[in-house]
Amino acid sequence: MLKYLFLFVGTSFCFAQQNWNTTFENGNGNQSVTYEDCIAFFKKLDAAFETITLQEMGNTDSGKPLHLILFSATKNFEFKNQKAKILINNGIHPGEPDGIDATMSLFRDLALQKISIPHNTLIAAIPVYNIDGMLNRNSSSRANQNGPEAYGFRGNGRNYDLNRDFIKSDTKNSRSFQALFHLVEPDVFLDNHVSNGADYQYTFTCIATQHERLGVKLGNYFATEMYPALVQDMQKKKIDVVPYVNVHSATPDKGFEQFTDTPRYATGYTTLFHTLGFVPETHMLKAFKDRVKVTYEFMVSAINYTDKNFQKIKQIKEENKLDFQPGKKYPIEWAIDSTQVSYINFKGYEGSYKPSAISGKPRLFYDRNKPFTKKIPFYGNYKATKFVTIPRAYIIPQTQWSVIELLKLNNITYAQFTKDTLIEVETYKIKDYKTSKSPYEGHYGHFSTQVTTQSEQLKCNKGDYYFSTAQFGVKYLVETLEPEAVDSFFNWNFFDTILQQKEYFSAYVFEDVAKKILDENPELKQIFEAKKKSDTTFAEDGAAQLDWIYKQTPYYEKAHLQYPVYRVN
Ligand SMILES: [Zn+2]
Repeated sequence: MLKYLFLFVGTSFCFAQQNWNTTFENGNGNQSVTYEDCIAFFKKLDAAFETITLQEMGNTDSGKPLHLILFSATKNFEFKNQKAKILINNGIHPGEPDGIDATMSLFRDLALQKISIPHNTLIAAIPVYNIDGMLNRNSSSRANQNGPEAYGFRGNGRNYDLNRDFIKSDTKNSRSFQALFHLVEPDVFLDNHVSNGADYQYTFTCIATQHERLGVKLGNYFATEMYPALVQDMQKKKIDVVPYVNVHSATPDKGFEQFTDTPRYATGYTTLFHTLGFVPETHMLKAFKDRVKVTYEFMVSAINYTDKNFQKIKQIKEENKLDFQPGKKYPIEWAIDSTQVSYINFKGYEGSYKPSAISGKPRLFYDRNKPFTKKIPFYGNYKATKFVTIPRAYIIPQTQWSVIELLKLNNITYAQFTKDTLIEVETYKIKDYKTSKSPYEGHYGHFSTQVTTQSEQLKCNKGDYYFSTAQFGVKYLVETLEPEAVDSFFNWNFFDTILQQKEYFSAYVFEDVAKKILDENPELKQIFEAKKKSDTTFAEDGAAQLDWIYKQTPYYEKAHLQYPVYRVN
């Protein structure tokens, strides 16, 4: 408190005259703040107002700390025992800086009480998430964007897209975010962006997180109450909102689908913890000045809504948690439900094709002199296409420390075996998977993964981990530990060592062993002969036959394709 006393004694007379304009407000509307000025501005707010505090929240790849700015009307900055909490993230893509500048104005207006003050809600914001990206300031990396004059770069210092890093956590930013997220435990989360893609009349578009992933109760509330209320509130301010126009290299006339924000994305991640997530996506071709304004207004709408409805949000979150318990079915794969269509009175521009001046081939162009309002279909619903049953627990040997570290970072509680123990478990063998042919975000990830299951007695060593699923983070456990889930640790290469066989045999030696094995095991021999009859390629391939026999014997190593996370049912 000393800092405030000092400031009030020393500079209290200056407050009224203090210029609290931001870089954006001081310029002609086309300038975005630099990283240094942004943090300096928040430091100044922190020093001047007791309702504001700026905190450092762990490290980032840049070597600079991640910051969190907080506003509390009641000056209570404890994360526990708040009625409601909102977390706003900015600059995950620093080439899309609208939220950075809008958030500076927002906190200043909250501090100066220029706007209605939330009395039930703690407002938290990350001023800049991708710090090294923002420091990589330039005026060209957003080729199609209409301002600002200078901005940061999408990739971070190691060229990661931080908005794909929430599960694999290759960056320090992601790890610090996860720690921060679990400290704040927000009810509502906003991640501010600027869109690419088609041209249309809207300045503001929004990805509301795929509501089915939230669960039935919370998802329905989100899609049928909260989101429509925010859209209505924006309309009162004469700002039209349309779902993120998920169309690339084509016109939106035929309609479009809800964006899939799997757990690798910010809102996909926050959805795993019952947080209501929005991704404001302002339109790249609209003036920066207008984009910052609508981003600001959406944050205000979200704050007001949360502040008014905090009790209902809390209650539905509590009810929602009950649907994610051991023994319940959990969807791990989704597809658009084309039977459920809603219609949007879409405000677009006439799009057509003309010969390209470059190639002579047909090229798309939008005629801004031909605006239209057309009824187009929107496919906003997904249906689950694959389920797993939530086990009672997952057992992970302590050798798998890299995933255990991430589970701990996500506040997942656990027990450890106090002595060597035999326990009945369900195990997975990796039956099939495909691997990306080109690198994606530092990985050659897997997809279309399939497993087979079997029951066995597992010997757990003293110190191995037991993760009960009867806990808040159950969705995170299932999405990361079930290999078939799209953003599982398996698909993100955490377990690639099990895909490679370590020991093998020399055929000229094993030929004789194999013969002896078949002779001594008539049943095995029968299966072998049947396989040869039914599979002509196999019948012609001596090496494959020897390998098949090898894999039926104890010589074949158990670790190959054996998924080292075990289910307790
Ligand atoms: Zn973006």
